[in-house]
Amino acid sequence: MSDPAAWIAPWAWREADRCLIPPRPNPPQVAGAAGWTAELQQQLQGALRSDPGSPESWVLASRLLHQPAHGALRPLADQRRQQLVGERVTYVVNRNLNFTNHCLQHCSFCAFRRDAGQQGAFWHSFEALQERASLAAQAGATELCIQGGLNPEARLEGSSLRYYQALLRAVQAAAPGLHLHAFSPQELLFIAEQDERPLQAVIEGLMAAGLGSVPGTAAEVLSESVRRQLCPEKLSARQWCGVVLQVHRSGLASTATLMAGHLEQPADRAAHLLTLVALQQAAWQHQVSGFSEFVLLPFIGAQAPAALRQRVGRDQPDRTAMLTLTAQARLLLDRWFVNHQPSWVKLTLAGATEALRWGCNDLGGTLMEETITSMAGAQGGTAQTPDALEAAARSLGRPVAQRTTLYGEVGSAPCR
Ligand code: SF4
Repeated sequence: MSDPAAWIAPWAWREADRCLIPPRPNPPQVAGAAGWTAELQQQLQGALRSDPGSPESWVLASRLLHQPAHGALRPLADQRRQQLVGERVTYVVNRNLNFTNHCLQHCSFCAFRRDAGQQGAFWHSFEALQERASLAAQAGATELCIQGGLNPEARLEGSSLRYYQALLRAVQAAAPGLHLHAFSPQELLFIAEQDERPLQAVIEGLMAAGLGSVPGTAAEVLSESVRRQLCPEKLSARQWCGVVLQVHRSGLASTATLMAGHLEQPADRAAHLLTLVALQQAAWQHQVSGFSEFVLLPFIGAQAPAALRQRVGRDQPDRTAMLTLTAQARLLLDRWFVNHQPSWVKLTLAGATEALRWGCNDLGGTLMEETITSMAGAQGGTAQTPDALEAAARSLGRPVAQRTTLYGEVGSAPCR
């Protein structure tokens, strides 16, 4: 695409530039700075309230992102979690529907994508997806999480949008009433590009077909320099912000993710998390719900393309490093993101359970059929039962409850 602003609303493109906080060199006093304290936490939150892009926010965020696993970090994150959301652990009964892995991009970390006709390629029919949706409903699911590769053949009557609308309507017909959490910012922009129509028309068209919320995937790391190495064909960090601003302003909530543990530095992580705060503030200023949760996605190298795997030099996540980042993210995102979710697929359920002691309050979904990360060689499995998730929470002596996608009580209206 020649014009990166094409399809995104002009206001969102301008606002994305204000919200996207670029990585800066770490201030000299950060390295070796003394341990994080409740006072520093208050100072950071005061700075973020004024301006997440200010030098003071940057210095304090950088300092937090350099805190080691030992010391006050974990207890402070755990305490802040308790203050913001209490002791209860939540989870959602959902099913993943990855409808195709045909993809025209070649992200350096992706073991999921295939060219059409290549071994391991798949593109499920609507009938096959309906069968899975129906089974999910019978198993008590409240949500279908629908994502796929960027498949230019996925069209109906020549239109990409019509195909995606038909997909939503098909699964709704098979499983009425399930919340449709679907299509990453990259997929939404892809549909707009394919049909050469404004992103807003795509969002509204999908909402009319039943779209309920949007996964905040494809964010990877919101740092243009990292993205140039990791996923140069993917939407840029500024485009991701622009799409998310339009999604939120249209009244849809999204999740927020950070893929970590590969090439990124603490400065990239700080920039990413500060940008998420800026985007959440933009949503709240317009009295829309914005992000519903933050999900840390550790990089899985086992089956990833060799070039990146060899650069990173690790097949499975460094658990201590990811738990440390879990606690740092809880403290940085503070009241802007009260819900924090580890990935049991990437960390294993034991690792995700441990993350509940490092600032997390949610165990995510049952998934029933995880494909993307399992193809990358993750060891957490492809499904969890509600009993297994509940047992994990109870092993820490914490109460546990099923939730809706948007953190409402099951059987009642979603919380905003
Ligand atoms: S991460 Fe997504 S966009 Fe990138 S290659 Fe894989 S399926 Fe395609």
